[in-house]
Amino acid sequence: MGSVIYLDNNATTPVAPQVLEAMEPWLRGGFGNPSSGYLLGRAASVAIDTARGQVAALAGCQPDEWIFTSGGTESINTAFHSALDMNPLKRHIVTSSVEHSATLRICEHLEGRGFEVTRLTVDAHGQIDLDHLAASIRSDTALVSLLWANNETGVLWPIEKIASVVQKTSAVLHIDAVQAFGKIPLRLAGLGVHFMSFSGHKLHAPKGMGGLYANRRVPFTPLFRGTQENARRGGTQNVAGIVAFGKAAELVASPFDSALRDSLESTLLTKIPGSKVNGDRADRLPNTTNLSFDGIESEAAIILLGERGVCCSAGSSCAAGSGKPSHVLKAMGLPDARAKSSLRLSLSRLNTADEIVRASEILPVAIAKLRAASPVDSPVSFS
Ligand code: PLP
Repeated sequence: MGSVIYLDNNATTPVAPQVLEAMEPWLRGGFGNPSSGYLLGRAASVAIDTARGQVAALAGCQPDEWIFTSGGTESINTAFHSALDMNPLKRHIVTSSVEHSATLRICEHLEGRGFEVTRLTVDAHGQIDLDHLAASIRSDTALVSLLWANNETGVLWPIEKIASVVQKTSAVLHIDAVQAFGKIPLRLAGLGVHFMSFSGHKLHAPKGMGGLYANRRVPFTPLFRGTQENARRGGTQNVAGIVAFGKAAELVASPFDSALRDSLESTLLTKIPGSKVNGDRADRLPNTTNLSFDGIESEAAIILLGERGVCCSAGSSCAAGSGKPSHVLKAMGLPDARAKSSLRLSLSRLNTADEIVRASEILPVAIAKLRAASPVDSPVSFS
């Protein structure tokens, strides 16, 4: 792993050394059940309280509005479950065509159970139309569920404006903030969002840790019944994972600097003819670039780059290996050839300037090799 340049941080991030250090005692001597009354248990319970304060500080909400879960997917499922339970007569959901697979699969499932789902389209930059959003919400709309940051392109949606549109209706608003959390500032207090989903492994905590913000003014129905998490998420808490999430939240409190992403992107655009950025370049996460390279197949590029020590992806890690063009890029109107020639490079705070210089040298050589080996005589142009 030593010389690997890891540029797939939207898929998952390495656990930060400080996070590992913070969680380790809770896997060793501090193994008590946080619900137990003796000191070992109470110490674990205090550690959970501290972590809840740390994540709530990053989210800008009250600690009691934060529920620890097993990950972003569970949080999203819980938000849907709770919102739909609130008013069982409402059978309409508004979402978008570029959501993460967790949301897409839940919506497909609900359609099979008689719900109606409106999927907002996006423009060529990956942006939704707020007028279309407003027009899509009906009196029987139970839930609006939208991304904050797209996992494939990093494109950001204006959650303040989305919230003010939804606030004028009786629908519940859930935002999938899994990719945005810890990369751009958030202040949930007063925002008007009812539920927001988070995941620890996108910000240097281990996999299997998530969070759900549940606005205290909104009725809540748990998905997992039990006593823990104030009866909102049953199951003995993963103390070490929760401590890790809290520590990670503390570590990512400062703004993420886009300088390394910008330098990588501009070098690649300059060095590689026929390369283009996919998605809104102004409203984007500071760590992500999604690029198309004329005349290559992204699946072959990922293998070759992997052999040369660069880890990246074609978009969502969930769709990896499917051979299908990304549903996000297709929704933005990209032709199949361009969508299938795209690579997502996503950085973390642990990437170094030296790694970015090396990646900027490796990628152009690899793309040239792929083009030379392509059965197509000359690189296909997308424009
Ligand atoms: N939502 C988005 C936007 C994601 O990128 C992911 C993970 O890739 C998830 C939800 C699911 O999170 P988790 O892996 O913690 O279940």
